[in-house]
Amino acid sequence: MRPFAYRRAASALDAVQAAAGPPTEAPTQFLAGGTTLIDLMKLDAMRAETLVDLNDLSRELGGISAGADGLALGALARMSDAARHPIVRRDYPVIAQALDLAASQQLRNMATLGGNVLQRTRCEYFRDPSWTRCNKRDPGSGCAALEGVNRKHAVLGVGERCIAAYPGDFAQALAALEAEVEILGPGGPRAMAFEALHVEPGAAPEAETVLAPDDLITGFRIPARPWTRRSLYLKVRDRESYEFALASAAVALDLRNGTVNQVRIALGGVATKP
Ligand code: FAD
Ligand code: SF4
Repeated sequence: MRPFAYRRAASALDAVQAAAGPPTEAPTQFLAGGTTLIDLMKLDAMRAETLVDLNDLSRELGGISAGADGLALGALARMSDAARHPIVRRDYPVIAQALDLAASQQLRNMATLGGNVLQRTRCEYFRDPSWTRCNKRDPGSGCAALEGVNRKHAVLGVGERCIAAYPGDFAQALAALEAEVEILGPGGPRAMAFEALHVEPGAAPEAETVLAPDDLITGFRIPARPWTRRSLYLKVRDRESYEFALASAAVALDLRNGTVNQVRIALGGVATKP
């Protein structure tokens, strides 16, 4: 593992300011649960020079609350806390199911919602730098997966430079429920449709979202809609536990008097973005 500088953020604003600075080859990374980031730094697939630890911010960013207008999930809420929250389970079941079907209990106890949506691909060629061709890890180097073992790679949203699948589960639930993501950047807070957060690989597979390096996700807002309660997450995988999706679907249905008024479907495991 390469040496890196480490500092703890005292507030969300402090975290953003600590991550700000001129563009570098190895932008500062926020450290939440660390279950993806530390893994990838040990593998030398991510090469952060500075980590800004968010773990003192659970009061500011770890809340889960629900009201008449919808559900608010803090970016630092742990996956397991969101999955077992009684209102999430009752009124937003697709969220609880997507989280419950992800990773292992130990990982869910540590991993945060913000870190979850920003997890990197599981493409083996990305994770193992002994493969020299990976445009996502080393821009311009090529893509070993195109002619390699790519059974678990994407079929939707692919390009000539990268075919890596987006691996997470929670993101599909957010997309199906028309969620917004809340962001704090150097210019202040802003919100956007969650569906617009991730981008297809196109010409620059190293860029997976529209976030700048000093943009901090502070939370997610899921509006109360007629389809949130009648929602479900279906995940197909090689084994029934502790495994990423080969294919998944988050489905939310507005059914009135036996008529489907509206249906929302978000696919996982098969595409380069949620
Ligand atoms: P970190 O590792 O701390 O951070 C991940 C990335 O997000 C980093 O780049 C970090 O800088 C950035 N980041 C974190 N928080 C913020 C923020 N608030 N704002 C801006 N940037 C931020 N996931 C699934 O969905 N389904 C699975 O089946 C599944 N299986 C897994 C199996 C294994 C063996 C492992 C190791 C992981 C698995 N995961 C799975 C992934 C796991 O859910 C993620 O590792 C976890 O959710 C990441 O959250 P974290 O808080 O640990 O993020
Ligand atoms: Fe790298 Fe993407 Fe190709 Fe995998 S599919 S080797 S992540 S460029």
